[in-house]
Amino acid sequence: ARKKLVAGNWKMNGSLVANETLIKGFLPEVTDAVDVVVFVPAPYLAQVQGLCQGSAVKWGAQDVSSMPNGAYTGEVSLPMLEEFGVTHVLVGHSERRTYHFESSDAVADKALAAIEASIVPIVCVGETLQEREAGRVVEVINAQLDPVFDRCGRYAQNGKWPVIVAYEPVWAIGTGVTASPEQAQEVHAAIRQRVQEKLGLEVAQSTRVLYGGSVKPSNAAEIFAKNDIDGGLIGGAALSSSDFSGIIRAA
Ligand code: 13P
Repeated sequence: ARKKLVAGNWKMNGSLVANETLIKGFLPEVTDAVDVVVFVPAPYLAQVQGLCQGSAVKWGAQDVSSMPNGAYTGEVSLPMLEEFGVTHVLVGHSERRTYHFESSDAVADKALAAIEASIVPIVCVGETLQEREAGRVVEVINAQLDPVFDRCGRYAQNGKWPVIVAYEPVWAIGTGVTASPEQAQEVHAAIRQRVQEKLGLEVAQSTRVLYGGSVKPSNAAEIFAKNDIDGGLIGGAALSSSDFSGIIRAA
């Protein structure tokens, strides 16, 4: 069975004071029964490392460069993240794809670089409302994932793949509109099917696929109960320790 993962994406929110209150608030809820990772703004990695080290909570960055170092103003490298104990990194969040024009090829390059640094990439995919209404959900998601299979597929070994997928329908992010558990499950099953086609049944069964988009304590349990939904990537509700705690308890 796949262990559930509850991931908090703080996006561009937080402060030294707020972060400490938030983490100290939900830390007592975290047990070995569920994996918990927080994705924090890069300037706070050292602080969050200090607060979470030795606990069951892991931490990561919201983006990373695929380059090891050099003249890339504003970027953060994997070796830098490693120095702060990072275990996971988000790549291809829809806000990166939209506001920073990240292509699926660039996202796959980041995922590959992360794997090669032994950091687990959470590859975010998802369709817009327009694409859903045009009946193109699976086509869009396969096009986002295929460069990841092409570049990172060879790292699937012994039935395991060091990649996590997050399905985040763009129309559900920060809107309060959640995909219904059935809508989400349908896409998750299609993603797992695609993993199976590319990397085989065993890898498909072990790869975690998270749902993101307006997950709250009140809807988390029914979403996480679906067969192919292995946890959540939480935005707004990850900024409140009581909401995030409630979601962790639901997993
Ligand atoms: P919300 O939970 O605020 O909808 O954000 C989802 C998300 O984008 C997480 O990465």
